[in-house]
Amino acid sequence: MHKETIRAALIGNPNSGKTTIFNEMTGARQKVGNWAGVTVEKKEGQIEHNDHHIEITDLPGTYSLTAYTIEEIVSRNFILDEKPDVVIDVIDSSNLERSLYLATQLIELNTKLIFALNMMDIATSKGHNINKEKLAALLGVPVIFTIGNKGSGVEDLVEKIVEVAEDRNTVSRHIHIAYGREVEKEIKNIQSVIWRNPEIGEKYSTRWLSLKLIENDNEVIDTVSFFPEIADDVIKQAEQSRAAIREIYKEDPEIIISDQRYGFINGALKECLKIKLIKRIDISPKVDLFLTNCFIGIPKFIFFIWGMFQSTFKLGAIPADFLAALIGYAGEAISFILPAGLLQDMIVNGIIGGVGAVLVFLPNILILFFFIALFEDTGYMARAAFLMDKFMHIIGLHGRAFIPMLMGFGCNAPAIMATRTLENENDRLLSILINPLISCSARLPVYILVAGTFFPQHAGNAIFSIYAIGIVLAIVVGKLFRITLFKGEIAPFVMELPPYRMPTIKGLAMHMWERGKIFLQKATGMILIGSIIIWALSAFPLNRHETDYPDNQTMEGSYLSMLGKSITPVLKPLGMDWRESVALISGLAAKEIIVSTMGVLYPGKNNNGEKIQKLSTRLKHSGMTPIAAYSFMVFVLIYTPCLATLAVMKRETNSWKWPLFAVGYSLVLAWIMSFMIFQTGKIIGF
Ligand code: GDP
Ligand code: MG
Repeated sequence: MHKETIRAALIGNPNSGKTTIFNEMTGARQKVGNWAGVTVEKKEGQIEHNDHHIEITDLPGTYSLTAYTIEEIVSRNFILDEKPDVVIDVIDSSNLERSLYLATQLIELNTKLIFALNMMDIATSKGHNINKEKLAALLGVPVIFTIGNKGSGVEDLVEKIVEVAEDRNTVSRHIHIAYGREVEKEIKNIQSVIWRNPEIGEKYSTRWLSLKLIENDNEVIDTVSFFPEIADDVIKQAEQSRAAIREIYKEDPEIIISDQRYGFINGALKECLKIKLIKRIDISPKVDLFLTNCFIGIPKFIFFIWGMFQSTFKLGAIPADFLAALIGYAGEAISFILPAGLLQDMIVNGIIGGVGAVLVFLPNILILFFFIALFEDTGYMARAAFLMDKFMHIIGLHGRAFIPMLMGFGCNAPAIMATRTLENENDRLLSILINPLISCSARLPVYILVAGTFFPQHAGNAIFSIYAIGIVLAIVVGKLFRITLFKGEIAPFVMELPPYRMPTIKGLAMHMWERGKIFLQKATGMILIGSIIIWALSAFPLNRHETDYPDNQTMEGSYLSMLGKSITPVLKPLGMDWRESVALISGLAAKEIIVSTMGVLYPGKNNNGEKIQKLSTRLKHSGMTPIAAYSFMVFVLIYTPCLATLAVMKRETNSWKWPLFAVGYSLVLAWIMSFMIFQTGKIIGF
């Protein structure tokens, strides 16, 4: 049977629950993040509903449809250009006045709409009583109550999508928001000029275009320029109209229009919202006082992050040891099955040695992401950003720029994408350039391995100190760039604190799994290939051994040792020998490869000639001193962003200039920092 396809889109303010509803409807496994940056990317899903096939898109969160932010432009152009059959505006019912601002703008876009009044549980607990029939009738849009995280109302919503798409809904009707006599007159004036070209009216609502021209919307001015025969006249008329409105109201036309919209919303809410004052204790303000108070807030924040790394190391150790043993057995089993020779060597020392060395850290990675998800989902991340506002001002950024930095703990690539929420070009470039200094989870395996080997009693603290160095450097380097490269004022901005929410197990599990999956994909892709290359470089040329295949005891004379030795002179003052040099080169592609390379590089045998399984034991006998180990970790922290991050930098800045600059400055900085640490350590006598 042929199924009808309906194209739908979800839009709404950030944190209104779009992604939650999207997941509930499509069942798609997705990250339920809190930051606009995460949803800037388009997410699409499929719903099968009786005879209908619904394709649905989760649009980025936005408060308005002006053309100021990327989110607004993306959402708006999607509706204008892709013309979805139905648009669902997800509304935070506990905050109707603010949410309806976007709704009024959607009404003007002339698209078929449904309002999903989400967070009904919160609205109810605040004593808000919403008359949904009245609201629907007033706005001419069907209204559905939903509670996204419990899935309630979502079935009805899907049913309603079909109904509205097929024009079977009796509520749907097009209303005009009246802007007062003066503005209405100017709308008509502009419309009459636009109508000289009927083509443009087929594509866009002329009332909407006129309104936007009065609001001086750059995107619409560009749109009009596509119709050269009327463009000049339309733009001239728009300027006259704006002048006329300003003359009468002594105020910018944008402000007049937005005032009228709020007036309309207030009028509508008077009709259909009753608020019963409920005496209840709202925990958010109390908790906030406790968590975001400046004096105790920051130590507490640092304590949370410290706790996160302690747990990541300590809790992760148990399953990690278990995994290591398992991988060790796999290696032994294969040595037993396959005849000794190149193939066995490649599989055991190359693949299992390399990939296995990284795979062991899966539990640690999962634990780290569990904490990050917990901070995000409870609303603590937003508080942290709030807290850090003052610090961020040191480098001329506001607290909002701290969110991409926090995301950098996970992975710098999406974190750099999340800088899109910064409107100012200079702020954005600055945030992009310092982001790689925030130590991502790919570097964690290196720290766990090295710190666990050389500082077994204080590994958690050592790891925490590396992260702290990264943050301090980000601030120092940021300040430096601010006064040299990106001079400018701090843009004014209001930060919002979302309410605290109880995270769901399902949400947390999904985040962990998302990251775990990416980690496994990397292990079976890039890291696998990297391990084989490193192994091959260590095994060849063959004829340097008496036997036909190397047992890798020395690696002396291999291509790998030649490569390593060629750059060792540069790294020697930092306490590194040729093996560490090789590991660092391989880490240029992705930082996890450093560990897999070490897995191949440090083969060791005990007195009975059996291979020592534990990589940390092998590493311990490599001749590295603790201070050299620390210098190595600092180098890994700072030196060049991985390929994926550089590619994102290129895309986001639209030139190779900035990624190349990032490579250059980070290499120099890494060298200087490691040099200072190693040399100071040597003088003090470590
Ligand atoms: P988006 O930014 O619009 O995509 O919002 P999300 O879908 O990421 O939701 C933000 C947060 O609100 C998540 O922690 C959800 O679990 C939570 N949430 C979503 N819908 C509801 C709801 O109806 N009631 C409550 N109490 N929480 C919700
Ligand atoms: Mg979302």
